[in-house]
Amino acid sequence: MPTLLEQITWAYTPIPAGAGVGYVNLGIGQIGTESPVALVTAGIHGDEGPWGAWAIRKLLAHTSTDELRGTLRVVPVANPLAMQADSRNAPLDMLDLNRSFPGNADGSHTERLASVLTEKALHDVSVVIDLHGGGSWCVNSFAFQMPGGEALSRAFGAPFIVAAPDRTVTLTGYARSQGAQVAAIEMGGRSEEEAQWAERIALGLRRALGIAGVLTPADGIEPLGDSIPVGSTHVLRPSRGGVFLPEVRTADIGTIVAGGTVLGYLLDPVTQEIVETFTAPYQQTALLLLRPTVARLEGGAMTYVVAEPTNQ
Ligand SMILES: [Zn+2]
Repeated sequence: MPTLLEQITWAYTPIPAGAGVGYVNLGIGQIGTESPVALVTAGIHGDEGPWGAWAIRKLLAHTSTDELRGTLRVVPVANPLAMQADSRNAPLDMLDLNRSFPGNADGSHTERLASVLTEKALHDVSVVIDLHGGGSWCVNSFAFQMPGGEALSRAFGAPFIVAAPDRTVTLTGYARSQGAQVAAIEMGGRSEEEAQWAERIALGLRRALGIAGVLTPADGIEPLGDSIPVGSTHVLRPSRGGVFLPEVRTADIGTIVAGGTVLGYLLDPVTQEIVETFTAPYQQTALLLLRPTVARLEGGAMTYVVAEPTNQ
């Protein structure tokens, strides 16, 4: 039996990308013709690939066509120009694609991209899974949960689960406003364990698409762990720019540390003296996002995302 990867069809839509570049191609893959239709996207923020795209590839390569029940549509690189620039947003207009839905066909680069995604990828879907997470400078360990999509979010076995803000300008928020079940996954990123994160996301996709009825139920795939629900997230940021020296590292992502635990330091870039110390703010501090390596920081940069576990 062939795999989904062997049978999927790719279609490319050129998006105007300014005088220097000309066009970038938005690639949309599809396999199947039946209902329900699920869309899996990755890289809507250009600096967050390629871990989500890698997971999509693993899913396609490891799933055979006889497991397909509905239609699977994938967009592994949702923001191609931003990906090439290793930037959250496309450098042409610096608009956040995930605040631009449903888009504008006559608008700027990012607004047009949102419009194409709305028309060619979102128009008929009943399930949307949007892979964010990690990226060029951090590792994430949580799933966003939205009403109606709880089972999809939990299928990933992310260390933590967070209620998502209700915003219709995001890809998932817009899809939900149109009646789809949705999940946004914030897992993985650049670290020594990037391959394991990609594998974990791929298994989560397989389980979630089984729950959605697009693939056969993934009964043979063990749950990847129970997600701990946490309350609203809090971002730790430096008051000024400098050099970041981590104290907690790759192995600590997705864990809960005691209040006061030193997470990392901001160093003066000239003298290398410690000028600020990042510490765990809660008695039980869940580490949802961290930077695992020495890095440059601009003042106000997102350095840690933390939350408190809720009693559930
Ligand atoms: Zn993102």
